[in-house]
Amino acid sequence: MHNVVIIGSGCAGLTAAIYAARANLKPLVLDGHEPGGQLSLTTHVENFPGFPDGILGPELIENMRKQAQKFGAEFKAGAVTEADLRQRPFRIIAGKHTYETEALIVAAGASARLLGLKGERELIGHGVSTCATCDGYFFRGKPIAVVGGGDSAMEEANFLSRYASKVYLVHRRNEFRASKIMIDRAKKNEKIELFTPFVVDEILAPKGLVEGVRLRNAESKEARELALDGVFVAIGHDPNSTVFKGKLDMDSNGYLIAKHGSLTSIPGVFVAGDVQDHRYRQAVTAAGSGCMAAIDAEKFLEEHKH
Ligand code: NAP
Repeated sequence: MHNVVIIGSGCAGLTAAIYAARANLKPLVLDGHEPGGQLSLTTHVENFPGFPDGILGPELIENMRKQAQKFGAEFKAGAVTEADLRQRPFRIIAGKHTYETEALIVAAGASARLLGLKGERELIGHGVSTCATCDGYFFRGKPIAVVGGGDSAMEEANFLSRYASKVYLVHRRNEFRASKIMIDRAKKNEKIELFTPFVVDEILAPKGLVEGVRLRNAESKEARELALDGVFVAIGHDPNSTVFKGKLDMDSNGYLIAKHGSLTSIPGVFVAGDVQDHRYRQAVTAAGSGCMAAIDAEKFLEEHKH
């Protein structure tokens, strides 16, 4: 029996773990299918307060993990497959293991979206990627495309320009969602060529390896083919909330709904990070909400003496 189980080991989950551990609650953190969350898949983080020269995402997340462990948080690998929240203790199932807990913090994050094209999923690892830091090195001296118009796409394009011979930044609109500083950086980068407003119609891989993309101009409908070796999809994320369908309140996109900080419709269940935030989605806001969830869980446990 646990005091607090935390689902997710990204920025939100780890911050919740630090606070819950420091409150002597000995939290159990279930890593999930993407241990470390999105920060572990990114490069330089320049906007996390306290690091004037920036810090690498994986380093930041590793530091948080060590900090949580130092205060007594326990970690277990495995993704949650089922949750019984009908009564306390809640029962959380991750593969073959069942965990019972008095309080639950859901910080399961969000996962990379795909374009939904034929063969795209099967081509992951064969030229299609959702993680520049994981796969960029494989495209040394090769032309690639990054799809998307947000900060992730800009960041990935800039990062990948270190390796690739050429980076086509393909976006479906002429306006970018990304912040100005990120757009300017991409525009100044000689290896990056902006392709707008273009939609990817097909990933060309006749031999099972990406050889190019077929694009369509969203306005003129003009078709275009680009020969390249890699397609990095950077079009946002979906919340990892499927397990909680019908159990916790969520919006039409599957984002869990938090009330008064981290509270949910079920007393003792708290939410934090990107699984409940489609607006801010920053490392620092995820960390802040993880802190709130841990404090809310601590107060709840105090009031319902365990
Ligand atoms: P995002 O801001 O939601 O942008 C997603 C982009 O992908 C949009 O430009 C969108 O186009 C495009 N898109 C979505 N679905 C598509 C589809 N099916 N086909 C083609 N294009 C599609 O997501 P993000 O870039 O991952 O950023 C998420 C959050 O993290 C943001 O708050 C961002 O500021 C933050 N972030 C910050 C940094 C940083 O500051 N260093 C780095 C990365 C991310 P439309 O614009 O046409 O909708």
